[in-house]
Amino acid sequence: MPRLLIKNALLIDPVLGESRGDLLLAGGKILRAGRKLAPPHGCEVFDASGLWVFPGFIDIHVHAREPGAEAAETLASAALAAAAGGITSMLLMPNTSPPIASPALLRKYAARAKGLPVNVYFSAAATAWRAGGEPSCLAALKKAGARAFTDDGSCLPGGALAGLIKGAAALGLPLLDHPEDFSRTAAGVAAPAAARRLGLAPIPPEAEAFAVLRDILAAASHGPLHLQHLSLAASVAALRRAKKLGWPVTGETCPHYFSLSERAIRKDDANFKMKPPLRPEADRRAVLRGLADGTIDIIASDHAPHERRLKEKGFAGAPFGVIGLETLAALCVTKLVLEEHISKTRLARLLSANPAALLGLKNKGSLRPGRDADLTIIDPRRRRRVPEKFVSKSSNSPFTGLPLSGWPAAAVVAGKIVRSGIC
Ligand SMILES: [Zn+2]
Repeated sequence: MPRLLIKNALLIDPVLGESRGDLLLAGGKILRAGRKLAPPHGCEVFDASGLWVFPGFIDIHVHAREPGAEAAETLASAALAAAAGGITSMLLMPNTSPPIASPALLRKYAARAKGLPVNVYFSAAATAWRAGGEPSCLAALKKAGARAFTDDGSCLPGGALAGLIKGAAALGLPLLDHPEDFSRTAAGVAAPAAARRLGLAPIPPEAEAFAVLRDILAAASHGPLHLQHLSLAASVAALRRAKKLGWPVTGETCPHYFSLSERAIRKDDANFKMKPPLRPEADRRAVLRGLADGTIDIIASDHAPHERRLKEKGFAGAPFGVIGLETLAALCVTKLVLEEHISKTRLARLLSANPAALLGLKNKGSLRPGRDADLTIIDPRRRRRVPEKFVSKSSNSPFTGLPLSGWPAAAVVAGKIVRSGIC
């Protein structure tokens, strides 16, 4: 049985907190945790002195672009980018072309994702062919392997929302919504202040805020709902209130919403164009508070690769979205932990335990013996700038050139090192 001994690490478990010690991995599981474990005969040893060892990071919001836009990303290139970023599991969004909306398509692409270096999970379209009308046949999609339902890229339709919430809950799978009132977004491309500076059409904050309120009320009435990529103070406040009332709603944000404000947009550079848009500084601070006080449950990258030729069209013409798999961990460590907004243990919850719980991955999100041997190993001292060239096929990042610490030193999936060293 292949074994791997992680020595001299700072172990960070979402429940047990921080401790110094070793982890022995065997048969794809964490076999033992303790101090000064002796390596069994023939066991590979990884010296993690000075490194932080987390349960593997799980990114629940990834666009791998296959099928339909393979020039921007493929399942294989997204998995390599994930491993390079220290992400050991990822949940793919179904807004491909065609959308992942039928059992046959799910099976086809899940088969194609077999053998990739990280765990790949698929979400399926919540409405039939992601058209925003009738609900999909959720039970058939679950049977084919769907781990979640969402129309991400589009907002779940109000008319079908109650039925979708009840249907997903009956199957025990999460329903994820992209909260956006598209009638308010209209032709907008950036937050109002940035749009004014650049002479572009604005996206009013109400486009997110009203959809979040609608979703929270639907969750209160019908059952669990997860809110994707929250970016506004109003959204964080509404989620905080809903949780106080015991309503079954969870929320995620993305690194760009706690790392950047709309002031970062200094010129017409579509690498800063995403949905929801970068917000004013007060919203960024509210997102940070929501991460610190437990209101926001999960950080996901919303990795959205696009070809350079499309992003070169500028804010008015380029598609929305930025890549994020390779910078997710380093941004979280630098902007949240090293700047002392949250503890390492809280980060383990935001990037591992809570995503595992949402997706029902009972053997992930923990360093306890018996759990899956998926680990994210971080070097908190290694400082380097975000490179211009990524492992991803695309390079549309707003962070290029930014110095960050906390780059992944290795990613371990099912007890095997799938990526070691900083690329
Ligand atoms: Zn979205």
